[in-house]
Amino acid sequence: MTRKSFLQLLSALSILKYPMQARELKHITQDLNASEKMPLLFLGHGSPMNAITENEFTAGFKQIATTITKPNAILCISAHWETKGTFVTAMEHPQTIHDFGGFPEALYQVQYPAPGQPQLAKQIQESIQETPIGLDEKWGLDHGAWSVIKHLYPHADVPVLQLSIDYTKPAIYHYELAKQLAFLRRKGVLIIGSGNIVHNLGQIAWNKMETDNFAFDWATETNEKIKQLVQQKIHKPLIEYNQQGAAFKLAIPTPEHYLPLLYVLGLQEEKEDTFIFNDKAVAGSLTMTSFKII
Ligand code: ZN
Repeated sequence: MTRKSFLQLLSALSILKYPMQARELKHITQDLNASEKMPLLFLGHGSPMNAITENEFTAGFKQIATTITKPNAILCISAHWETKGTFVTAMEHPQTIHDFGGFPEALYQVQYPAPGQPQLAKQIQESIQETPIGLDEKWGLDHGAWSVIKHLYPHADVPVLQLSIDYTKPAIYHYELAKQLAFLRRKGVLIIGSGNIVHNLGQIAWNKMETDNFAFDWATETNEKIKQLVQQKIHKPLIEYNQQGAAFKLAIPTPEHYLPLLYVLGLQEEKEDTFIFNDKAVAGSLTMTSFKII
């Protein structure tokens, strides 16, 4: 393979070389000064293939990034990092984790070399009083984080931290924990919940993968209800999502893809409104519905 074709391949695979000089990166990561308040994002991430596909959803991610001041750092709560206890990633260089199976080789080649920011991780640990936060050196960025953030910031020039989801805790724990992260919004930190509000892989209609916006009735019902409640800022039934009847039970059979939404809602301030985008279903049992709250 020639050097040129190798570089073309790298570019096609979105493998990024460290795109900035170390000095510039240091400048960005050193200091989190007060900033205007950053919005909140909940992103429906869907299939890992969205990482290397150009489609209407990835166009939605790219578009939303153009409406947001470039952050000093990102804190992502991903459906794909569940732990006992709550942890925040604290390494200088988080690895790109390919936490899926059976996808094309090109997806495993993707690297998203955004730096970490250990000082920010420590600051988060020290600021949260209600529950102990562990500093994690082993995780990195799972596909719930990098498959969407790479569309927002393709140059990997914004430090990214992840906060884990403690799977032993009830929904209200996540909603309340989020409130203690509020200070980050005025330090230029973009907080992203990455999951899917309707996510039942066992019910996927494989023969409808290519059908535009195909949803089962229970998926539509749940998606619509959740959108309404989010827009009306009625959070109680959203926290008590597992008491909302049969459609919700089918749409949210396990909590991990839903809980990132509760972090975003826990952080929503009274006067803030919601902008909905990527509001479509895929293969019957998954919705890509995403929110920007500002
Ligand atoms: Zn997922």
